[in-house]
Amino acid sequence: MILEIYLDSHGRKSHCNSCHAPIEWAELTSGRKMPFNYPIVVTQTEGERKMDGTRIIERVDTEISSSHFATCPDSKRWSRSQNERRKR
Ligand SMILES: [Zn+2]
Repeated sequence: MILEIYLDSHGRKSHCNSCHAPIEWAELTSGRKMPFNYPIVVTQTEGERKMDGTRIIERVDTEISSSHFATCPDSKRWSRSQNERRKR
C-alpha cells in the first residue's frame, strides 16, 4: 500500500510507548498521524520546496516502510477498533 505523508511532518526519531521500538511519526495527507518503524523510507517525493507554504507530499510504500501499528507486539493496546477491523 502506498501512503502519502507530508515531508515537513516527520524526521524526528521517537519511541513506541508500548514496546520502545524506534518509530517515526508522520502526518498523512488525510490529516491522520501514523507511527512508522524508524526510519521512514520515502519512495517518491511530489513537488518542490516553495516559498508559498505549499506542503511537499512524500509517498511511502508500506511494504518497505511499515506502519508500527502493523508490527508492534503490543498493538492490541493501541486501538481496539483498528485490530477488530483487521480480523477476518
Ligand atoms: Zn510498539
